[in-house]
Amino acid sequence: MARYAKVVLEIPVDREFYYRIPEDLAGVVGLGVRVHAPLQRRLVTGIVVSISGDCRLSNPKEIAAVVSPAPVAGRDIIELANWIADYYCCGISRAFRAVLPSCVREGRRARLLLVASLAASPEEAERTIEAAGRKAPKQAAILRRLIKAGAPVTVSKLLKATRGTSGSVKALERKGLIRISSRSCERIPFADDEVVPTAPLDLTDEQGRALESIASNGKIVTLIHGITGSGKTEVYLHAIARELAQGRGAIVLVPEISLTPQMVEMFMGRFGREVAVLHSRLSEGERYDQWQRLARGDSRIAIGARSAVFAPVSNLGLIVVDEEHERTYKQEESPRYNARDVAVVRARICGAKVVLGSATPSLESYRNALTGKYNLARLTSRIDHRRLPDVHVVDMRREKSLVGRGIVFSRRLVDGVRSRLAAGEQVILFLNRRGFCTVLLCRGCGEALRCGNCSVSMTYHKKAGKMLCHICGERLSPPSICPKCGKGKLFLTGVGTQRVEATIAKLFPGARIQRMDTDSTTAKDAHRRILDEFRSGRINILVGTQMIAKGLDFPNVTLVGVVLADIALGLPDFRSSEHTFQLITQVAGRAGRGDVKGEVIIQTYSPNQPAIEAAARQNYEAFYRREIRDREELRYPPFTRFVLVLFQGRNEEMTFRVAALHFEEMKKALTGDVEVHGPVPCPITRARGKYRFQVVLKARSAAAAVSLVRDAISAIKQDRNVQVVVDVDPLSML
Ligand code: ADP
Ligand code: ZN
Repeated sequence: MARYAKVVLEIPVDREFYYRIPEDLAGVVGLGVRVHAPLQRRLVTGIVVSISGDCRLSNPKEIAAVVSPAPVAGRDIIELANWIADYYCCGISRAFRAVLPSCVREGRRARLLLVASLAASPEEAERTIEAAGRKAPKQAAILRRLIKAGAPVTVSKLLKATRGTSGSVKALERKGLIRISSRSCERIPFADDEVVPTAPLDLTDEQGRALESIASNGKIVTLIHGITGSGKTEVYLHAIARELAQGRGAIVLVPEISLTPQMVEMFMGRFGREVAVLHSRLSEGERYDQWQRLARGDSRIAIGARSAVFAPVSNLGLIVVDEEHERTYKQEESPRYNARDVAVVRARICGAKVVLGSATPSLESYRNALTGKYNLARLTSRIDHRRLPDVHVVDMRREKSLVGRGIVFSRRLVDGVRSRLAAGEQVILFLNRRGFCTVLLCRGCGEALRCGNCSVSMTYHKKAGKMLCHICGERLSPPSICPKCGKGKLFLTGVGTQRVEATIAKLFPGARIQRMDTDSTTAKDAHRRILDEFRSGRINILVGTQMIAKGLDFPNVTLVGVVLADIALGLPDFRSSEHTFQLITQVAGRAGRGDVKGEVIIQTYSPNQPAIEAAARQNYEAFYRREIRDREELRYPPFTRFVLVLFQGRNEEMTFRVAALHFEEMKKALTGDVEVHGPVPCPITRARGKYRFQVVLKARSAAAAVSLVRDAISAIKQDRNVQVVVDVDPLSML
């Protein structure tokens, strides 16, 4: 019986190709194997993603050859890619590109080094040197060097040290005096000699119970809901040690690896070279070598951001998703997968377990834990019973009437900073908005200066002296007259991190202040440098965006100021209060992790907003109960699934028409379980010069909605001028 292979080719087309497997390759062409296959008149490389007894094409071409019989991706990864294509509504080759880094897909090789060693005895070599020393001084020098080293030396080093030539090396090899061999050389992306080894700590009772519930039979997923500083990481470390002891491997996902150097160090300190690190700042070579370490089994633990969920850990026993609520787990380009959800699917495929950890779990996960789909483990107290910080909410509406407009800091916050600095303690000031002033307003018509390409107002960046668009990056000098009404004078207002930094520097001229946001961390090692300086105490006040809200453990930080808590609340997005609650709670958790009790001061114009109230009381349960009720009433996730279909194009009318066409097509095929809404302009109506419209599907299961979307897209002739983006389980509706 003929066999057929579905192949993802290395070409920029998001489509799979079908081929017949010729008799003589029947035993060799397997899942994940790289092959050469004909496309038009050339041969293209590709990877086999499925094999079956029948084929959609009546007369497919034959696979030409196998590149190498060892598969580049395991069965589990291929199954996962197929699941992603299906669930997130994208082509298999796009899904495949997400699960396999290009250096692996394209069959990059390990870096090989040529190494020279003595083939003759040192005595014989000495004799040759004496005999030939005068005639061939370079050869003699090479031999001397090798005798002195007493071990193999790389050819490049040898040539450099002796000023030799490759000709002299070859001559020595011909004479049988030296041997040249090649050795693969690993590129190591971190300095592991700086890592301090750590020993496992004795777990507290709560930690012990959490560890047990991870291993318990039945459920795949355990959610650890542990307040900040409750020792979740130690539970992960114990759980992984247990997997290693039983011969299995593990994956640890962290939201953003450059922001969590402490976490990586902790794992390397405990497990040494068992740990491979995967993140976006690696060079292709480093990534390839880390990947190969895992694939060979030299390292059994992968730690990394989102895409590490696809790491080639064999015999996978456990996937840890730290800070599982984080938005960075969602990829915001196709395939728009959420690594937390992919982790659960991969665990199911591999027979592994998943641990989700957070102080502020997503509503989805917490509900799954409450309804019994997941195990729930609670860590309710901080280690050593350090108390949670005291939280004060400052109503900025009152401050405003006291001191006039444009105020950045309340008196309470200024007093707090002063006394902490006097005590030699450290302060974090958090504001989730970068730039200096966030709007340029017209005194005449009241309009803000907007970006010409995007429907958002532009932010003033003082250092550059420019107005900047945070969506498309457009920059322009601030005009003096309003371009809208043509006569009004403009003034800057609104607070960004740069202005917080400048204001606090004026108030406390003696303090050392550092800002940490995307503008101040463009240099490669900037995150690490800033965090190291803060840890060492060289910085007194750290000002920053959400970058500083995550996972940092600085015992000397005793005051956290939230400069303006309301920022995300105004966004027309159903997750904005969840997001606000999470951010405030996370950043508040940075205070008081040492011996001195911490304090948090939250400045807000809406002190009675439930998310802010709950965050101030550090009461996740209260927040959850209220928010979940609202979601249920509105039939929002997690009670339903959303699929967002986004239409983008330069021509507004045409974009709307295409959206409407898709909408009508979906309407036609509608079944009882799915609702379709739209098309309407997105809250950000225009970005990068393109108009944006959306159709939103609401359904009991995402699959039902996705199949409706897929059918509509294939039924309608796609227009190159309007891009259609499908986002399943979107995190943002903007
Ligand atoms: P979380 O991730 O829950 O915010 P961490 O894992 O950062 O908390 O733990 C907070 C601190 O407590 C860390 O300094 C950690 O080393 C320490 N710690 C954790 N577990 C224990 C334990 N069982 N005994 C002693 N110290 C612990
Ligand atoms: Zn713009």
